[in-house]
Amino acid sequence: MSRLKDKVALVTGAASGIGRATAVLFAREGARVMATDISPSGEQVVQEIRAAGGVATFAVHDVRDETVWMKVITRSLESYGRLDVLVNNAGIAISRSVAEMTLAEWREQMAVNLDSVFLGIKHAVRAMRLEGRGGSIVNVSSVSGLVGSPSTSAYSASKGGVRMLSKAVAVECAADGIRVNSVFPGGVRTPIWETADWWDGFVEQMGSEHEAWKRLEAASPLGRMGEPDDIAEAILYLASDASRYVTGSELVVDGGYTAR
Ligand code: NAD
Repeated sequence: MSRLKDKVALVTGAASGIGRATAVLFAREGARVMATDISPSGEQVVQEIRAAGGVATFAVHDVRDETVWMKVITRSLESYGRLDVLVNNAGIAISRSVAEMTLAEWREQMAVNLDSVFLGIKHAVRAMRLEGRGGSIVNVSSVSGLVGSPSTSAYSASKGGVRMLSKAVAVECAADGIRVNSVFPGGVRTPIWETADWWDGFVEQMGSEHEAWKRLEAASPLGRMGEPDDIAEAILYLASDASRYVTGSELVVDGGYTAR
């Protein structure tokens, strides 16, 4: 269990869901982890990692804020002496029909899901270049960045943006040994679903939360929702040296959702 031995990794959105699973898995694989989130509850994840013998630090971090990005990266360098991996995972999903969406909602979706990835890449690339050891940046996109569905216009646009931002930077930074890849989860059972404004109505329509999840599972050819660990394993592969010849790629982890 040492696929990230000697590496330092910064994981955003680490308080919950995919980010939490990634931070825990990375620490188990020997990484020293800088886990960040806008929610202070990320501190509990770090306590869990430490209790299991791992090494991790938590920082409150709003990924929309460039000044905080600079502080968090400086803190990783000061605490652990280097930065090898950045996982841009933090995200929100605003679901709204395009005709009803306000410009403020559109901008908020872009700020959290796409501006953040730009800011993270910008400051991680600067740090990695100074260190001269290369690095791996993994950006969490979504199947919504590949195929369309109703009421996801802003979310899909942000995730499609993550896809092409990753490819462009992969080419730009290849000569520095900095690899940039993106992961495309399908439906993963995390709290992000329950933040959708249609969720309560959907649960009511299905009769219970259990039935609502079952209906979502039916959309997956593999017959289940993804678990955060399913995605964390894909992120781990792209973060580790096992993917040393992989850059600019798109790793779809969706139970076959987009294969049809
Ligand atoms: P989640 O809600 O469980 O976790 C998201 C985390 O991001 C939360 O801890 C939240 O506090 C944090 N966050 C939100 N805004 C932030 C901000 N401004 N700054 C810093 N942190 C912030 O959701 P999740 O499903 O684990 O989502 C993780 C990523 O996976 C997101 O980018 C999401 O779009 C993507 N994704 C999720 C699914 C899914 O079905 N769950 C599918 C495809 C892609």
